[in-house]
Amino acid sequence: MHRPDFAVVGGGLVGRFVAWQLASAGHRVELFERGDAAGTQSAAWVAAAMLAPLAEAASAEPLVVGLGAASLERWPRLIEQLPEPVFFQRNGTLVVWHGADRAEAPLFERRLRANSPADLLDGGFVRLAGAQLSQAEPALGTRFAHGWLLPNEGQLDSRQALSALAAGLAARGVRAHWNTPVEHLPALLHEARWIVDCRGLGGKPAWPALRGIRGEVARVHAPGIGLSRPVRLLHPRYPLYIAPKENDLYVIGATEVEGEDMSPVSVRSALELLSAAFAVHPGFGEARILELNSHCRPTLPDHRPAIVWDGARTLRVNGLYRHGFMIAPKVADTACALGEALLSGDVASADTFADFRGAARWPELLQAGFACMPALSH
Ligand SMILES: Cc1cc2nc3c(=O)[nH]c(=O)nc-3n(C[C@H](O)[C@H](O)[C@H](O)COP(=O)(O)OP(=O)(O)OC[C@H]3O[C@@H](n4cnc5c(N)ncnc54)[C@H](O)[C@@H]3O)c2cc1C
Repeated sequence: MHRPDFAVVGGGLVGRFVAWQLASAGHRVELFERGDAAGTQSAAWVAAAMLAPLAEAASAEPLVVGLGAASLERWPRLIEQLPEPVFFQRNGTLVVWHGADRAEAPLFERRLRANSPADLLDGGFVRLAGAQLSQAEPALGTRFAHGWLLPNEGQLDSRQALSALAAGLAARGVRAHWNTPVEHLPALLHEARWIVDCRGLGGKPAWPALRGIRGEVARVHAPGIGLSRPVRLLHPRYPLYIAPKENDLYVIGATEVEGEDMSPVSVRSALELLSAAFAVHPGFGEARILELNSHCRPTLPDHRPAIVWDGARTLRVNGLYRHGFMIAPKVADTACALGEALLSGDVASADTFADFRGAARWPELLQAGFACMPALSH
């Protein structure tokens, strides 16, 4: 047996991506995932998988918005290379609000504009009123007087993406250890030349600054509503989105609650999510609830993603917070480029790391040297 070039630890969203790309580049890769190949233990399993850099700019900073915009362009080509189909749509995001909440609109718009580059806003933000809104999204009829269409945004089916990536790993010869917490195979882990730690919130023992932000979602089957794109509802207490997937499946989310509580969805959250959806379209009253689910978004103190080289043989990729699907392609590209530079020896010291960082498109993503942190197996 050849020694693996990379052991990727954590096969949720980012780990699958990184392992698949490294294997596609011809490297020997092993993946360790404590959950199953479907991805049911990951935050990605619960996610709505909206790819909405402009809508997210209302709360995300320019680094995340830029990564999201570039990743959105990259997704279709990536999906083409995967061995299973993935529902991907680029039909925009619609933002609406009820009359009583109209004070939310200028706040949201101000924040969105402050964090967005001009080229994303140019043609990417369209004001709609009255009949324009019902023409753009006939399913909403005349329920909302004003809204914005962000026509360039997208979404995909998170579970299909996880499954297609798992199939892609097999096709590219990655040795995937599903249902295997990495702690169970320390010897195999230590055989690898380089370790890429993508454990999401599971990486907290090695990265104590990580924290969870709980999110709750409902999945409902609602034939006959016919929303054609994700709809975001501005609201002072529970801003909500409704993301229509294939076959009349809707993902309705999501709460944001500080803390690492992985317990089932609370009655309060279920009531808020479902009644807000009902207020967007009364047809949701007849929808069938397929699932109420929760998970925690892996989050760093500055709410930005980070790729950190520990100065020894571990790279950590984490902190994707509420933007994992939106930014994963470009975060994974950057992590793989650093991984390959470490493997080849092009990066081997603080100086060569600084050169690599200086030449990177998103240097803010890259950090080095937290040797003070405990090793992976701790
Ligand atoms: C409710 C909700 C809605 C969301 N909606 C969106 C959205 O619309 N758009 C968007 O872009 N993002 C969204 N996200 C965010 C997105 O899901 C995350 O950013 C993304 O999943 C983070 O990817 P990750 O690979 O870092 O972590 P994860 O997807 O959580 O994967 C980490 C993996 O590591 C594994 N692991 C942990 N510990 C170990 C161990 N010791 N050994 C082996 N394996 C281990 C876990 O089992 C898991 O599979 C949402 C998240 C939530 C919770």
